[in-house]
Amino acid sequence: MFGVTRTFVPILVYHQVSPRPDPRFRRYTVTVRDFTRQMRWLAAFGYQAIDMDALVRARSGQGSLPKRPVLITFDDGFQGCADHALPVLRAHNFTAVFYLVAGLMGETSRWMLPEVGVELSLMSWETARVLIAEGFQCGAHTVTHPRLAGLDPARCRAELVDARRRLEGELGRPAVHLAYPFGSYDPGVQAIVAEAGYVTACSTRAGLSGADDDLLALHRVTIYGHDSLFDFACRLRTGTAMRERLGQAFGGVRRHFRQRRGSRP
Ligand SMILES: [Zn+2]
Repeated sequence: MFGVTRTFVPILVYHQVSPRPDPRFRRYTVTVRDFTRQMRWLAAFGYQAIDMDALVRARSGQGSLPKRPVLITFDDGFQGCADHALPVLRAHNFTAVFYLVAGLMGETSRWMLPEVGVELSLMSWETARVLIAEGFQCGAHTVTHPRLAGLDPARCRAELVDARRRLEGELGRPAVHLAYPFGSYDPGVQAIVAEAGYVTACSTRAGLSGADDDLLALHRVTIYGHDSLFDFACRLRTGTAMRERLGQAFGGVRRHFRQRRGSRP
C-alpha cells in the first residue's frame, strides 16, 4: 500500500515568477517571496527534485525514485523564471524542467496578447544554454504555442518536429520531452507526438502522476499566484488545493439535494 502511494510524483507547473506580478497575469504569476517559501517547504520536508529522464527511467523499471520525489516544471520559458526562480532552485540544489517555445526565444509571449492582453519577455537561447550547462533540463513547448487539438495535422507535425529540431540544434542534446500549450491535445495529437519522437508530454490535467500515468498526457499540479503555503502543501500531496476539494465535495452535496428535491412528486 505504502509502496504504491510513494510512486506518485507531483509534477508542479509554474509559469511566471516575478517580484512585481502583472495584474493581468496574476493568476499564473508566483511572487519571488512565495516561490522561495514553497521551495523552502520542499527542502524542509525532504523532497528531492528529479527531471523527466529520471521519471521515465523509474517508470520503465530502470531506476528508482527518491523517497519524496518532486518534478518542478516551468511552461513558456519566461525570462522572469531565469532571473528569479533560478537562484532559489540553485540554493536548494533542485533541478527543474523548462518548456521552451522554440520559435520565440529571446522575443515575447505574443500568443498571450489576445486573451491576456499582455506579453512577457522570453529567455534567449543563450540563457537556455546556461540552464543546460548547470544541469537543468529544457523541453519543447512547440514553435509558436498554438492549441494543438484541432490543428491541421501537417501544421501540428511541423510545430512538434521543428521544435525538437531547433532545441536539439541550439542546445546540443536530445529534446524528447514536451508540454502541450494550453494543455491542448487529443488522440490524434498524441499519435503525432509519438511519431515525432517525444518520450513524454505533460498535460495540465490536475493530479499527481502515478505509475500508470499516460507518458504522453502526464498529470501535473498547477501552482497559482493566489495559492497560500497551505494550498501549496495540499496540492503537493493530493494534486488539488483544499478549497477546491471542499468545493467539489459541497458541489456533490448540492447536486445530491437538488436531485432529491427534483425527484419529489
Ligand atoms: Zn504555455
